[in-house]
Amino acid sequence: MIHDNIILGAGVSGLSAAGTLRREGHQVLVLEKSRGLGGRAATRRWESLPVDHGAQFFTARSDAFRAQVAAWVKSGVCHEWCRGLHRYSEGALFAPEADHHPRYACRAGMSALASALAEADGTTIERQSKVTKVHCQNRLWTLTCEDGKAFRTRRLILTSPPPQGANLLAEAAPAAADLLRGISIDPCLAVAAQFPRRAIPWHGIQSNDATISWIGHDTAKRPDLHPDRTIIVMHASPGFSRTHYDEPEDKIGKALLVRASEIAGQDFLHPESIFLQRWRYAMSNPPPKGPPAHSFDLPAPLILAGECFAGGKIEGAWLSGQALAAL
Ligand SMILES: Cc1cc2nc3c(=O)[nH]c(=O)nc-3n(C[C@H](O)[C@H](O)[C@H](O)COP(=O)(O)OP(=O)(O)OC[C@H]3O[C@@H](n4cnc5c(N)ncnc54)[C@H](O)[C@@H]3O)c2cc1C
Repeated sequence: MIHDNIILGAGVSGLSAAGTLRREGHQVLVLEKSRGLGGRAATRRWESLPVDHGAQFFTARSDAFRAQVAAWVKSGVCHEWCRGLHRYSEGALFAPEADHHPRYACRAGMSALASALAEADGTTIERQSKVTKVHCQNRLWTLTCEDGKAFRTRRLILTSPPPQGANLLAEAAPAAADLLRGISIDPCLAVAAQFPRRAIPWHGIQSNDATISWIGHDTAKRPDLHPDRTIIVMHASPGFSRTHYDEPEDKIGKALLVRASEIAGQDFLHPESIFLQRWRYAMSNPPPKGPPAHSFDLPAPLILAGECFAGGKIEGAWLSGQALAAL
């Protein structure tokens, strides 16, 4: 079978793009390397409890995304989590300023956004299909997966993080690969730690510290789901993540727990358990200007989409997918 459109990646941008194309009457197939949906909007089931170890919350600044978020709030996909976060700077912890800017979270975890997008549009997704080779000939793209399966399409839409996309396109579309190579993206070591229930007086702490950039009170997003547990999620700063990326879990975990205790002024030194997620590609440094998705003619059409083209974050990912309507 030859598909009209194949989207590589079932993150927020890929599924937003799939919805955009489906609403316009196009046939679409999404290929996703993981078992779950959402990409960096990631939720892990930890002893049956959802924990966000990628994106922590999201904001909505554009009218279009605000309308989408209002629909998600109405249908119970997400809720307003807080307005304002604590801030740690130069050795001091500051209470949130009332910026009246809602931060949203999902009771079932951030991957619920991806499930909601996929379900709303009835998108067909081939999971556990990691594309390892991309070839373009006779106005057709052929995508070969790790397990040897091949898919053919008239148009390819690529939404993987820029370095992964650049590697795939190096031979078939060198100009597109160069564009992706020009976007820098930071790594992030994320550690979740679980404690018996305890009081935590903040939703999250944003920090410009050398070790930690974020401490989130994950339990506060869904207090009814784990009444006797407290889970915090810590994100190492880009510099710390780069330097310590390959070190063992217990060493990274200890370093973050020590620093989180100092920043928050609370003892997080003895969790019952922890897990570490290494994000090699976490947050892009989006170019300040440019189209939210890039279109190439080549021998067959190629579109590059993803958060990095539309301001970053969850909102940028969603907006980039919506931009396909104009291409
Ligand atoms: C630790 C962390 C914290 C963050 N915190 C926040 C936050 O608080 N708020 C916020 O708004 N944003 C946050 N972000 C950023 C946000 O998660 C991303 O901007 C957004 O989810 C990116 O969506 P995307 O669809 O563009 O890319 P992705 O989510 O990366 O989706 C790409 C998809 O492509 C798949 N893929 C890649 N290669 C292949 C292949 N070869 N074959 C098949 N599939 C492939 C991947 O598995 C993935 O599912 C955070 C990100 C991280 C990692």
